[in-house]
Amino acid sequence: MSNTLAQDTWRAVLGELQMCLPTSTYETYLKDTSGLAIEDNQFIISVPNAFTAEWLEKRVYHLVHKTVNKVSQEPLGVTFLISSPRPTGLPVSAKKSPKTKPSTEGLFSSNPRYDFSSFIVGPSNNLAFSASEAVALGKTTLYNPLFIYSGVGLGKTHLLLSIARKCLERGVSHLYVTSEQFTNHFISSIRQGKTDEFRAHYRNVDVLLVDDIQFLGGKEQTQEGFFHTFNDLHNSNRQLVMTSDKPPGELPSLEARLRSRFGWGLIADIQPPPLETRIAILRSKAEQMRVDVSSDVLHHIAERIVDNVRDLEGALIRVVATAQTEKAPISPTVADMALAPFLAASRNVSAALIFNAVEAVFNIPRSVLLGRKRSKEIALARQITMYFLRRELRLGFSEVGRHLGGKSHSTVMHAVRKITASMHNSPEVRERIHSVKEVITAQARLG
Ligand code: ADP
Ligand code: MG
Repeated sequence: MSNTLAQDTWRAVLGELQMCLPTSTYETYLKDTSGLAIEDNQFIISVPNAFTAEWLEKRVYHLVHKTVNKVSQEPLGVTFLISSPRPTGLPVSAKKSPKTKPSTEGLFSSNPRYDFSSFIVGPSNNLAFSASEAVALGKTTLYNPLFIYSGVGLGKTHLLLSIARKCLERGVSHLYVTSEQFTNHFISSIRQGKTDEFRAHYRNVDVLLVDDIQFLGGKEQTQEGFFHTFNDLHNSNRQLVMTSDKPPGELPSLEARLRSRFGWGLIADIQPPPLETRIAILRSKAEQMRVDVSSDVLHHIAERIVDNVRDLEGALIRVVATAQTEKAPISPTVADMALAPFLAASRNVSAALIFNAVEAVFNIPRSVLLGRKRSKEIALARQITMYFLRRELRLGFSEVGRHLGGKSHSTVMHAVRKITASMHNSPEVRERIHSVKEVITAQARLG
């Protein structure tokens, strides 16, 4: 098939991927790829370097594969080929990507890094880590189920796979499934009249690990299936571990009886890591990649990428790859160059944009935010504005106060502390913060 077709198809695929992947991931790994050719039922994608190829293969192969098939309407395999950005010819040898279904075994061979020893522990993930380790070593029956929740890219899957690996080492039977796999399995078992087999499949394991349980939301019949699986296992003292992007209480589309069961054992959250942990994570990733990166560069990256570990990894890879391409040593300057696309959006953030976002989410005009009127809602909107001015623009407390029409240093400090604490203990406030953040990001991207 012609190269134009490959190019057009890939552009459409990229459009889809852009919508479902974090911007930083897309910018780092996908932006500089192109559709090369469709040959022998293989869709060949050109990628700029080995890091990118490896990352795409390991992390998003299935997503890319699924999207390619959806867009092309053909059952094509996917091959990433390292080539210069402007390909001049066709591949000499196209390495075939694995097409096997994911299983724990497969996950391990392609993700040798997922174990407890490569997980960096800090104050933000301490509880989730020690509980996972205790469960994996069979040290306690108290944490049953163990429910781990966090935002994306903070290590939930890493911990689940570490438990799986430890079970494998200890000869304990276990099963890792995403809730999507669980759902598909459940539905097909009903269709094929094999529900007994389905039950036996899950009932016979000592440790069941279910990733991203939030996706069971709204799927009533599957929830029913999961409910029975849960009971079967729990009643016979088998261990369950689940992850989710929210605590059980904030998963309203899950049945109440399921939600309440999730609280029977231990609920552990993972928060974004503080600076020291981010540096330690980068240091460990650099060691794994066998590249020498100086402390000041690690510090430089860790200061700029703050929200999640996946982005942190992406940033490091990008910095290393840029240094290689530029044939330059890995320095803060190269890091700035490499991270420019990551940081472009945040550079576009201004005080005006933050005010706009708060106005939009709270429906409170800026004049009121700057005024003296007080109600619970207005006070909250003001505090969230201060929080974002401080966080996004890294302004000092007094400077933030000036933006708010002359609030004192201590008022601002109190507001920022309060909102930071509410992130942990108030779902409503967290929801508002996320909404404001979304509007800020969306506007910054446009501008
Ligand atoms: P989640 O499942 O929460 O979205 P993942 O487990 O997929 O996140 O983590 C994203 C990436 O960050 C993975 O490559 C993982 O290895 C890495 N990671 C997350 N937390 C840590 C940590 N504390 N130490 C080392 N690597 C981590
Ligand atoms: Mg995950």
